[in-house]
Amino acid sequence: MTQPAPVLPGSTIGVLGGGQLGRMLALSARRAGYRVHVLSDVAGSSGAQVADHTVVASYDDAAAVAAFAAQVDVVTLEFENISSPALAAAAHNAPVRPGVLALHVSQNRQREKEFLEANGFQHAPFVTLQGPADERAVAMPAFPFVAKSAGFGYDGKGQVVARGPEDLARVAALLESGPIVVEEFVELAAELSVVGARSLAGAVALYQPLLNRHVGGILDTTVLSAAPNEPPMEGLAWPRLTAEALAATAELLELLEVVGVACVEFFVTTAGALLVNEIAPRPHNSGHLTIEACLTSQFEQQWRAVCGLPLGSTRAHSSAAMTNLLGELWLGGEPRWEKALARPGASLHLYGKQGPRPGRKMGHITAVGPTAAAAERTALAARADLDHSDAV
Ligand code: AMP
Repeated sequence: MTQPAPVLPGSTIGVLGGGQLGRMLALSARRAGYRVHVLSDVAGSSGAQVADHTVVASYDDAAAVAAFAAQVDVVTLEFENISSPALAAAAHNAPVRPGVLALHVSQNRQREKEFLEANGFQHAPFVTLQGPADERAVAMPAFPFVAKSAGFGYDGKGQVVARGPEDLARVAALLESGPIVVEEFVELAAELSVVGARSLAGAVALYQPLLNRHVGGILDTTVLSAAPNEPPMEGLAWPRLTAEALAATAELLELLEVVGVACVEFFVTTAGALLVNEIAPRPHNSGHLTIEACLTSQFEQQWRAVCGLPLGSTRAHSSAAMTNLLGELWLGGEPRWEKALARPGASLHLYGKQGPRPGRKMGHITAVGPTAAAAERTALAARADLDHSDAV
């Protein structure tokens, strides 16, 4: 089959979503001479601040999304909760990459779990409840369990950890707003992710697995070791886990017919099993450190893939660690940027967001270092430098 012609520099990439992922994609694509249009549901978004042109419209507004697509050469996204009719309307006017299948599966936890089960991927045991009547009809897992909204969830939002009967009212409240997936609570030894890309020609390029630490359901820190024989954490069967995680990610990219970048998040259980947690059909917070640590960043990889170009090398030239900067850092006043930036190896990324609310991702710091542990120490120390609360 002949491939469509590549979308070359000078052409226009349309990005659905105006968050930090779109911002970093736009910065990378513009460096290579592309024009970037952003569609966001709010004015002045992180992505819009660095785009050539912005449209403000709802992600459900099929007519607006189709008109947006008519102005660009290829459409991609930085946010998976775009309605299917809007995507289908866009696809009449420009190629949409990744396509409908990857989005349809990953934007709903029930469909995602059923897809993993049908294709033989290991995952946390789960049941689904469609509405309040199912609370009595469905055999729930034993406590503790995690109830998650099936639709539109991210960063631990729309989730309840039920430790005993006293938490069931909160589960019922979640169920009021739509179907939920109820998972067994997994005893975690670690959390990993693999960011990868698949080209229009079907080539797959994967970054090395990343080690992630979450706090309150939100990613806090990611660590990458550039040396295969120096795992980023002791006590894990790193070579086996790495091989399994890379193989599962490659298979998922193929099965979901991804053209673009995707990330697969994994749980490592205390018994050493690797379970797929979720799939994001776009660059991922855990992949931000590829900007400083790898020959090709996840954002460059995204525009290469969606434009039908060859993928870049994913090789890590440095070990690195990334720490997120959440809104609470601003509680004591403007963070002490000059102090953190005095640390060699630390790079600051801010997303241009107004209104630093607690839990809101405002930016991140990446540090590179001779080892993953050294990079992590630098990144954490740089973040601590920002905080007025422990100023001396
Ligand atoms: P998620 O939005 O599903 O990625 O969940 C956010 C975070 O909550 C995960 O990265 C885990 O740290 C934690 N979590 C989610 N589901 C489970 C589970 N079934 N067992 C234990 N921890 C979980």
